[in-house]
Amino acid sequence: MLEPLVRNNLPRLQNYYDRTPAPARHILTSARGWLLTRIRYSSQARAYLRQLRRNESWSAAQIREYQRSALRRTLDRALHSTTFYASYSRIEIRSLDDLRRLPILTRDTALANQERLLAQDVPPRERIRAGTTGTTGASLQVAYTEQLARENWAFLLRQWAWAEISPRRPRITFQGVRVVPAERRDPPFWTYNLPERQILASIFHLSESTAGAYLEFLQRQRGKIIEGFPSVLGILADFALARGRQIPMRAVFTSGEPLYPSNRSKIEEAFGARIFDSYGMTEYCGLIQECEAGRMHLAPEYGYLEILDDAGNPVAPGEEGHFVWTGFLNRAMPLIRYRIGDRGRWEDSGPCPCGRAFPQVVPTITRESDILRCPDGRIFSPRALNQLLKQATALRFCQFVHSGADRVVVRAATGARTGEDSLHTRAMDELMHIRARVQHLLGDKMSVTAQLTAAPISRPGGKIPLIVNQVPR
Ligand SMILES: [Zn+2]
Repeated sequence: MLEPLVRNNLPRLQNYYDRTPAPARHILTSARGWLLTRIRYSSQARAYLRQLRRNESWSAAQIREYQRSALRRTLDRALHSTTFYASYSRIEIRSLDDLRRLPILTRDTALANQERLLAQDVPPRERIRAGTTGTTGASLQVAYTEQLARENWAFLLRQWAWAEISPRRPRITFQGVRVVPAERRDPPFWTYNLPERQILASIFHLSESTAGAYLEFLQRQRGKIIEGFPSVLGILADFALARGRQIPMRAVFTSGEPLYPSNRSKIEEAFGARIFDSYGMTEYCGLIQECEAGRMHLAPEYGYLEILDDAGNPVAPGEEGHFVWTGFLNRAMPLIRYRIGDRGRWEDSGPCPCGRAFPQVVPTITRESDILRCPDGRIFSPRALNQLLKQATALRFCQFVHSGADRVVVRAATGARTGEDSLHTRAMDELMHIRARVQHLLGDKMSVTAQLTAAPISRPGGKIPLIVNQVPR
């Protein structure tokens, strides 16, 4: 049970890690990798994966039946193990529609009740805590368990199987982990996790001046799996295509952000491989994964999905609505009818050629955002900046405005109402902390200021971009 200890102390460990010289960093990364490997490739995990693969032959009726009994179990546990759901009425789940008699849990309500949502029968030392940022920037502190980390990994490997990739194939990961100190200007911008045969590459050092080094690195690693945020892989694809290069990879896995068609085609072109996209969340209450036929399937064992209109009624197939999730797997923090803030629609173009009866969903979430380009050529994806918001809990939204060539304003609003002075103070502290982290990331040549405002800068359709680029190019 080391993982909760490590995960919950990551900010402190990160400081230690940053001061460590590069060779020792590989050892630290591998040590953490070894810990994760033990969770991900344990005998239980392998057995769970085999079960998941068998479930792929389920009929639609079998899926409904599984979900009905999983809903029943989930509700029963949540009502008995948390103080939050204790006030919910005891309902009988005879059909999936019965769930609609329970209230919808909005993200704001979850934020305001995050401690009361914790299951009391999961001891605190077994809880792994992680911060999430939604479309508004306020961070929900999620709890989960090692068991869930294991199960979640099995779902990921099931999608690898759809891509005809066996477990532990070597991969390069471009995600939010800070693997190299911000002030570093020369390669390597990556570190090795040997037990997982994984290379973790930095998303914070992408720049016109480092593009060559990144491309050389990828060239040396060609034929491997590449995974990461779509905006980051899009930047790498731009680097390659602008130089007339193609770096063949085995397969590409994207997650964590919407994947736009233009981004998909340039990434697939640059890496000469297919993308398998997926939609998941730090709350671990649902999962949607792309199959080999290019359709997005709900993982029926992971959670129950409703897609509802503004009035809370189910939408017709093909019509867009709010995602409302009831997660089956997160025993530490059960979320029931959780309106996460993303949108999507049921696919209505008939059975999938892959043969699986898993429901088909199209997430239509658009976390609209620009990309931040510094005058010295460095490029930051929305996900690179999003990482800086993970600890913030008192802000209602936060966005980064690139207002002049060398000027960035961190704009935020507090969730505090009049009279809630301590929350207001905490929000100010968090804003100043975020400002300092952005300043550290961008370096002394950029001026970073902070501003408390009443409303975010939004775009038509009410979308709130994370990065607003006001600098003419
Ligand atoms: Zn399919």
